[in-house]
Amino acid sequence: MRTLSHFINGQDVEGKEEKYTDIYCPNTGTVQARAPLASTETLARAVTAARNAQIEWASTNPQRRARVMFNFKTLVEAHKDRLAQLLSSEHGKVISDAQGDIQRGLEVIEFACGIPHALKGEYTEGAGPGIDVYSMRQPLGVVAGITPFNFPAMIPMWMFGVAIACGNAFILKPSERDPSVPVELAKLMIEAGLPPGILNVVHGDKEVVGGILDHPEIKAVSFVGSSTIAQSVYERGARAGKRVQAMGGAKNHGIIMPDADLDQVVKDLLGAAFGSAGERCMALPVVVPVGDETADALREKLVAAMKNIVVAPSQDPNADYGPVVTAQHKKRILDYIELAISEGAERVYDGNSHPIAQDNQGYFIGPTFFDNVTPSMQSYQEEIFGPVLQMVRVNTFNQALQLASEHQYGNGVAIYTRNGHAAREFARRVNVGMVGINVPIPVPVAYHTFGGWKRSSFGDTNQHGMEGVKFWTQIKTITQRWPDSADENNNGFDIPTMG
Ligand code: NAD
Repeated sequence: MRTLSHFINGQDVEGKEEKYTDIYCPNTGTVQARAPLASTETLARAVTAARNAQIEWASTNPQRRARVMFNFKTLVEAHKDRLAQLLSSEHGKVISDAQGDIQRGLEVIEFACGIPHALKGEYTEGAGPGIDVYSMRQPLGVVAGITPFNFPAMIPMWMFGVAIACGNAFILKPSERDPSVPVELAKLMIEAGLPPGILNVVHGDKEVVGGILDHPEIKAVSFVGSSTIAQSVYERGARAGKRVQAMGGAKNHGIIMPDADLDQVVKDLLGAAFGSAGERCMALPVVVPVGDETADALREKLVAAMKNIVVAPSQDPNADYGPVVTAQHKKRILDYIELAISEGAERVYDGNSHPIAQDNQGYFIGPTFFDNVTPSMQSYQEEIFGPVLQMVRVNTFNQALQLASEHQYGNGVAIYTRNGHAAREFARRVNVGMVGINVPIPVPVAYHTFGGWKRSSFGDTNQHGMEGVKFWTQIKTITQRWPDSADENNNGFDIPTMG
């Protein structure tokens, strides 16, 4: 069986006397590899390697750092098929979706290729008599990223792409459920010309996360995962004096106005609700039609279309989606389905009676659809993170707006309408971080920024785009004067003014 190593200072590293965790194949339910759980000593080794390499990397000019990103992009593209196969075998998402995971990460690398432009500071000539003021963005030093299972390529690249281009050294702690692709990416970065020690991967679970959060030499931590853990990561990291951004869970709503193109809505909903088995923080697991007429028509079209969804092993080219990630996660989703039934929601389409969900050792669940879900139900309030779509009926635009705005999560939301005024008002008023207008999964492009509101994000800045650059750098402002001779008017004790 394959055993993973940590990747520290450009080399595979075995920790001493470490425990291991099993990595499953979600298609078959069998153990296919194992990964070590880093000890404090292994983490310390990674921090030392990062610290020793970072100073020279920070003084490497930004254009040279960008060139490494260009090389890395080319290398990942050359290895994309192999990486997508590996990713799919551990995560369970279909190959085309695994390629999308890599592609969306590469788009952030493309953004990082433009880092010289993003790092340009500001300059004011003549802010006072003979005085110029300028600012520079400098790296923080050694920084870390802790990532979830559901995007094992994209989310690490969101983080290390920008952080490293800004001149930091990075320690990545990937999800222990699918950690192989992150290690492969780190190796490709070395091949692309990154000095050893600038990108290190340590495997592990909550123990090593605690070690990262408490380590005095790690200056910033970016976390993506579930909300309860995101909040505790944010609090513990902030207590230790770090800069922390911690993205959490989601329950995104799709508002369907009576004038929406329902055929388009159905087509989009199938992918947004069930694609990747619903294991996306930007999935659309809640659909909110406005008016019973809209709801009834949508329900009929949706049920007809759901019959064509193909659930199959992730390597099957005909599969729309594959298994969920682990047996525990499958059980959790099935528990939510039972909860929804016990709360009185109407199960219109039963995914668990799908043959593949019954006769297979893999972690498959067919698509499930509930109508007549109400806001007071726990199964509506919480994130399920599976192929389960819930319909909440409302009568007016304002009720739909209020529903999405008052939910504990505020990651993404979508509205379907042909009315520009309704769309504009919705985008302006809704209490959610990312909004789609006739777009089901409004994941912003890399040079904009990604981040939710409310319990979907703790901390101040978002991922990638200029917000990412701000997160991974600190600003220094310089006020300079080069006098011809000593300024006789200032006795040196008064506060300097620009007047
Ligand atoms: P998770 O919270 O279980 O794990 C995330 C990371 O935290 C992993 O690296 C894991 O090893 C670590 N971890 C696990 N338990 C921990 C603990 N007790 N203390 C400290 N660290 C711990 O999340 P997951 O199941 O891997 O990913 C799915 C979740 O991530 C969903 O809630 C999804 O909505 C969310 N997500 C959010 C975004 C976003 O941008 N908001 C993006 C992707 C995924």
